[in-house]
Amino acid sequence: MQADEFMTGVLRTASGNWGEIAARTTPEGMLELLHSTLGIVSEIAELQDAADETNVIEELGDIMWFAALGYHSRGVMFELPTAGNIERMSKIISGDRWLSYMLDVMLVSAAELCSMVKARMFYGKTLDNSKALKHLGVIVGAVCAQCRYLGIEVGTVLELNQKKLRARFPEKFTETCALVSDLDAEPAVLENGNG
Ligand SMILES: [Mg+2]
Repeated sequence: MQADEFMTGVLRTASGNWGEIAARTTPEGMLELLHSTLGIVSEIAELQDAADETNVIEELGDIMWFAALGYHSRGVMFELPTAGNIERMSKIISGDRWLSYMLDVMLVSAAELCSMVKARMFYGKTLDNSKALKHLGVIVGAVCAQCRYLGIEVGTVLELNQKKLRARFPEKFTETCALVSDLDAEPAVLENGNG
């Protein structure tokens, strides 16, 4: 089969009832969950590329931000796992592969969330809230386990994230501030913990 013939087949079988798809976005906080899911995936990629420990801590905070948004989209309060659950997650695997395994754990749950959002929005499948929350919980647990590995309090990671965002959005979110963030000031906020 040639590429053009394949493309014709792709378009014949692609979801495309845009009116119905758009109607599915509002009642269940779907756009918020979509934002959360896209954000988690992109922040995991940033974590994978993190240059140093300061950067790792920043990306872990960013992942937590998007995970918290995901909880909100489901109408559930954001909570951190218990110390016992973090301990259990930390012991899943040991040795050199531990960090890459934690990335895999987060990626699998992020991919599952993507799959659920895709099936809801584009195929009309009912979203399983408890399953979505389970995957968000796995991602949050993996972030907490990495904080433990780095010897940093999860609360400190959350606080540094908020300090960075206060520097970026002094009043509240605006698209202008999101697109033109003060990239010179932000590293200082993260390193010095002020700003
Ligand atoms: Mg980031």
